[in-house]
Amino acid sequence: MNSDHDLIVRTVREFVEREVLPVASDMERHDTYPEALVATMGRLGLFGLNIPEQYGGADAGYTTFAAVFEELARAWLGLSGILATHLVLCDILKSFGTSEQRQRFLPVLAQGETRGALCLSEAEAGSDLQSLRTTATREGDVYRINGSKMWITNARHAQMFLVLTKTDTSVKPPHRGISAFVAEKGQPGLTVGRDIPKLGYRGLETCEVHFDNFAVPAANLIGGVEGQGFAQVMTGFEAERLNLAARALGLARAAFEDAIAYAQQRVTFGKPIAEHQAIQLKLADMATRIEATRLLTYSAAEKKDRGERCDLEVAMAKVFASETAVEASLEAMKILGGNGYSKDFPIERYYRDAPLTLIGGGTGEIVRLLIARRLLTKYARSG
Ligand SMILES: Cc1cc2nc3c(=O)[nH]c(=O)nc-3n(C[C@H](O)[C@H](O)[C@H](O)COP(=O)(O)OP(=O)(O)OC[C@H]3O[C@@H](n4cnc5c(N)ncnc54)[C@H](O)[C@@H]3O)c2cc1C
Repeated sequence: MNSDHDLIVRTVREFVEREVLPVASDMERHDTYPEALVATMGRLGLFGLNIPEQYGGADAGYTTFAAVFEELARAWLGLSGILATHLVLCDILKSFGTSEQRQRFLPVLAQGETRGALCLSEAEAGSDLQSLRTTATREGDVYRINGSKMWITNARHAQMFLVLTKTDTSVKPPHRGISAFVAEKGQPGLTVGRDIPKLGYRGLETCEVHFDNFAVPAANLIGGVEGQGFAQVMTGFEAERLNLAARALGLARAAFEDAIAYAQQRVTFGKPIAEHQAIQLKLADMATRIEATRLLTYSAAEKKDRGERCDLEVAMAKVFASETAVEASLEAMKILGGNGYSKDFPIERYYRDAPLTLIGGGTGEIVRLLIARRLLTKYARSG
């Protein structure tokens, strides 16, 4: 780890301890958007974390990227979600935007006042993104976008959307007709619909977004060539799944740390529950899974930092981390007994937040299919 990494992670950790932990449970309970925390995150430069220095960003590597998400999610998964889709948009623009697009969008996104969101999913197309129905039709210098997106996190507070569309509905396989655009709010025809009520992941909005003949300049077609959008987004999913693995790790760590502290204070049958073997076994299992999650997550991040193909490793980290987060939050709830079920303690929040990591960025089933596909290619039998 270099000194830049250490400085960024230490700064985020101090921010979390000083400003986020004291307010997270209350803001989450009231579903309050954390305006002041987001402003501080902007001042800390987090919205430019993965943007190259030439565009005003911190140009941090993926190991630092993962560590920042771990620290934020340790306090509040929702807060980390405000950063997540923004940085995935930045990642895709950095990798696939034309040089003109990088110059036009990245410096603005790095400042953090203009934030990004990802409009991929639709009511009938989540896991099966190739069946999306939103279209983009060229008319002179613009494309007209028509269709509705669903589950769009940050839709109300973000000003810049990556919209996945079909520019060709007849081509086979369908992904060859999929194109991604940067859509900026401000023109008629883009409406943010209802906020979808959620089990957890509160404090930030997840909405429907409707496009009705919305005009996007042809210059906003990411990469400048039609039919590349699906591949661009699939590559962007590496950063998405890596941040989800790191966020799940942060949440699992929070559940474990709360549980092991509680277990040493709570006395039953004349001794702290930490001295009962049944509780010790839970703590040991939690810590072991969390350590394995840490190794998978940071090993995948290091591979991405080295510029090596890492979709398999990121997928494994995401699946394992998300299931660890769900399990750790439930085990922590058991260790806290009635207090684990009470809103006086943050465990019930972890328990409601954790399943988002199972679903977002591809469900566990879909990500396992990707893992299996890669393994079958790697271990293909000849003849
Ligand atoms: C809180 C929240 C925030 C989100 N934020 C965003 C966002 O910002 N932007 C965005 O674009 N999307 C977002 N999503 C959408 C998310 O990516 C999708 O919900 C997810 O990809 C699953 O799609 P689906 O809900 O349509 O489920 P479906 O695709 O309908 O899947 C239903 C079930 O079937 C399983 N399944 C589907 N196909 C297969 C198969 N071939 N084999 C085995 N099992 C299968 C799935 O694993 C799942 O268990 C968000 C979702 C949530 C809940």
